Amino acid sequence: MTVDELRRTIEEFLAAHDPATTERLEFLRARYDAGLAWVYFPPGHGGLGLSPARQLEVDRAFAAAGAPDNNPEGNGIGLGMAAPTILAYGTDEQKRRFLRPLWTGEEIWCQLFSEPGAGSDLANVSTRAVRDGEDWIVDGQKVWTSGAHLAQFAILLARTDTGVPKHRGMTYFLCDMTDAGVEVRPLRQITGEAEFNEVFLTGVRIPDAQRLGGEGEGWRVANTTLNTERVAIGGRASDRESGIVGVVTETWRAHPDRRTAELHDRLLRLWVDAEVGRITGMRLRQKLAQGRPGPEGAAMKLTFARVAQQLSGLELEILGEEGLRYSDWTMVRPDRVDFNARDAGYRYLRAKGNSIEGGTSEILRNIVAERILGLPPESRADKDRPWNEVAR
Ligand SMILES: Cc1cc2nc3c(=O)[nH]c(=O)nc-3n(C[C@H](O)[C@H](O)[C@H](O)COP(=O)(O)OP(=O)(O)OC[C@H]3O[C@@H](n4cnc5c(N)ncnc54)[C@H](O)[C@@H]3O)c2cc1C
Repeated sequence: MTVDELRRTIEEFLAAHDPATTERLEFLRARYDAGLAWVYFPPGHGGLGLSPARQLEVDRAFAAAGAPDNNPEGNGIGLGMAAPTILAYGTDEQKRRFLRPLWTGEEIWCQLFSEPGAGSDLANVSTRAVRDGEDWIVDGQKVWTSGAHLAQFAILLARTDTGVPKHRGMTYFLCDMTDAGVEVRPLRQITGEAEFNEVFLTGVRIPDAQRLGGEGEGWRVANTTLNTERVAIGGRASDRESGIVGVVTETWRAHPDRRTAELHDRLLRLWVDAEVGRITGMRLRQKLAQGRPGPEGAAMKLTFARVAQQLSGLELEILGEEGLRYSDWTMVRPDRVDFNARDAGYRYLRAKGNSIEGGTSEILRNIVAERILGLPPESRADKDRPWNEVAR
């Protein structure tokens, strides 16, 4: 499809569905059905099979026409992680069932991966899934589950075979969060908010039709999610000087009295780092959409976390005492994380989590060392031993 053809397709769609008068959900569903949701997805699943590079022009045209946002509920895990994994491993039936309400925001998703004994060492999950006829019965505990209190579905990693080495005994499921056996309890963070939760799974029944990928293939499927997660966290599509770097640069412009040569130098360096990160993110998103999420996402997310933490610290330094005031310590369970909507103190505290969520910076450095630079791997005592024979 040429640039002109795509432009005409969008114009015809907007003429038939005026964003000003079409009901929001009706508009979003129609946009998905027209293949204009994520144009690089296959026809029938929200796309037109185009190159991922075309998505930006589509999104810009829809935004300029005042089209409704498909992500008002902050469905970042659904859009950024569940959807690409379902696209890569899902059956046609699973894609038909899950992708449309995920894209329109009718169904919010969360990620049931981390456990008290399986964070950095995710392949160590001990939540069990046991086959029972056409279903699986799941028991265990998950932790740090962002948005579990809002989610209808979850991507879930569970152990289905304890008698093989850890990476081979896991299976990936799509879990219904409204099942009676799912209990969600809030966990309060350094910001005072409870974005994430503990999730207790007791006798949760998951139909085998909601298994994503083969039995015992969970690690391979989860790796697709983890690679997309890093790009989703660190490489969102954005314009130059948007996000934290935009806010801090504005603060700098608004306070000429606070300027020093040293602060100026630091801001410039971080501005350049942020821009490099933004452009790297654009390239990685294109690779990702072509189904080739590589280890490079680890390097970008590492940079994103460092830059976000240094920028939010610099902002406090520019603001002085004023920056130390914290606006609100009320316990809330937010439906999204918006760095720009809150004050400098919030940004400073929330950015601390950037080097933990989606894989800690230490682990990402290991990935860069081993998979990009080809340095010798860490020694792993449990590598070839059955999971149930490893002391824990
Ligand atoms: C804001 C936020 C949101 C999150 N949302 C979710 C979510 O929605 N779903 C979900 O499943 N999880 C979520 N997490 C969990 C997150 O992925 C884990 O916290 C993370 O993987 C680290 O695991 P851990 O906390 O168990 O730390 P640990 O694995 O116990 O690590 C502790 C420290 O030891 C270091 N370390 C561990 N192993 C090594 C090693 N081999 N080499 C070098 N250093 C090492 C780590 O880097 C870290 O500094 C979230 C976390 C945060 C902060």
